[in-house]
Amino acid sequence: MAKTNKKYIFITGGVASSLGKGLASASIAALLERRGIKIGMLKMDPYINVDPGTMSPTQHGEVFVTDDGAETDLDLGHYERFTSLNLTKKSNFTTGKVYLQVIENEREGKYLGKTVQVVPHITDEIKRRIHLAAEDCDLILGEIGGTVGDIESLPFMESIRQFAQDVGPENVLFVHLVLVPYLKAAGELKTKPAQHSVKELREIGLVPNIIICRSDRDIDEAALSKITQFCNVPRSQVFKCIDVDSIYKVPSLFHEQGLDEKASELLGIWTGRPNMSDLDDVIYRWANPTQKIKIGIVGKYTDLIESYKSLDEALRHGAIANQVELDPVYIDSDDLENKSKVAELLGGIDGILVPGGFGVRGTEGKINAIEYARTNSIPFFGICLGLQLAIVEFARNVAKIKDATSEEFGNSGTPVIHYMEGQSADGRKGGSMRLGAYDCRLESGTLAHKIYGSENISERHRHRLEVNNEYIEKMADAGMTISGQNRELGLVEVIEIEEHPFFIACQYHPEFKSRPFAPHPLFKSFIEKSVENSKGNE
Ligand code: GLN
Repeated sequence: MAKTNKKYIFITGGVASSLGKGLASASIAALLERRGIKIGMLKMDPYINVDPGTMSPTQHGEVFVTDDGAETDLDLGHYERFTSLNLTKKSNFTTGKVYLQVIENEREGKYLGKTVQVVPHITDEIKRRIHLAAEDCDLILGEIGGTVGDIESLPFMESIRQFAQDVGPENVLFVHLVLVPYLKAAGELKTKPAQHSVKELREIGLVPNIIICRSDRDIDEAALSKITQFCNVPRSQVFKCIDVDSIYKVPSLFHEQGLDEKASELLGIWTGRPNMSDLDDVIYRWANPTQKIKIGIVGKYTDLIESYKSLDEALRHGAIANQVELDPVYIDSDDLENKSKVAELLGGIDGILVPGGFGVRGTEGKINAIEYARTNSIPFFGICLGLQLAIVEFARNVAKIKDATSEEFGNSGTPVIHYMEGQSADGRKGGSMRLGAYDCRLESGTLAHKIYGSENISERHRHRLEVNNEYIEKMADAGMTISGQNRELGLVEVIEIEEHPFFIACQYHPEFKSRPFAPHPLFKSFIEKSVENSKGNE
């Protein structure tokens, strides 16, 4: 491979998982992009699923969807929210994807009789994909999922080791994120786990250039110099990442310590200082709220907020835009199945949101929440399954289709929501939903049109079912407005109820496109209306 001036930063993690490697990567990216560098991002996941689309949200957290319809790791959500990037299928791959390709090549006879092995065939495929992801940028940040020492991550580690040799070590930076835990009994922070983690990296031939130390408290100089000494990394290349109350503070935290400056210097990139004004403005609005706002999120994956990562963030963006403090109340929809509990659990909530979801469990509770929002004039926002259930609720209680239901829940009743053409309950599961960006046309004069300020929009999808057009006339006669449609496919995309102060639902997932410095208009308006409603709740 010819030497290149393209630059590569590889981020690995040590000691423990869930250290916020994704956020750290996104924060470095945020700084480098703000220095004027054309960046790209990549997440390499060592698990064997071909993509996270087939994993339960409670296993792996949210599945993030890109414009081009890839079902990806939730870290891609962080990457997009911290930068101006719109990532693609090339931005995330897994062990499963790599093996699938290599095995397919083998079946096609592409290896010319060779024994197919982890080195070089798997590692070559990993390197090919890194080059592919880096095609359109000058610098790519590639994060490897998991923790150093995991069996699954070894081929990825070996690949990035080889990669640095291929492209020239001067073009590559290895960043290692470690945990520096506080031991109560010793009364001090411990650096030994970090030392071991770096030792493990060295054993497989990787030498970190930069070490980032995660800790729940400030790290003293003594601990930092121990890391410097025993991990053989200059003090000027060891950085702190202390717990902060807002994730959007992490870039400034790094910048104040000179991380972006050092990374640029080590890679030989000469740029100006980053312009941080957009992030500073976000932090200012976040830190100076005029009031608190209670949003009820009625879902069934409420035990793991990671399942609703982009949604949670988009709500925060909406709150930041309105300069209010978000108090998100995650309500398990199973608890709302008993109608007499609904008023008690939703009383005092300023706005109700029903997010996306799969399967029948918990849906009757969500329908009860929607009815409560509709009949009590509480701002309501439905997303994907939230739209489908708003249709079922309205059909049953207003349009008098008493047995209205969705085909996802079985075959009894009137299917006001049904499988899209080509979809069914028992088809192949992976990557087979309606995925990615689709155009939507908004009806002028509707709430949706007013909110977006535009007639033509594009939003990301992930679903198998749709509104059954056979019943929309009946719904419209009963007072529901179809405010957005995909005309080519004849699909309902947005609905609303005119007499209600704010009742809107969409078939797509607007949360994937919200950014702190460019809050999504639907979330911004929903929070604004919830703030108005909260005045009445006082
Ligand atoms: N289960 C529904 C469908 O597949 C909704 C999906 C979702 O909310 N993302 O259509």
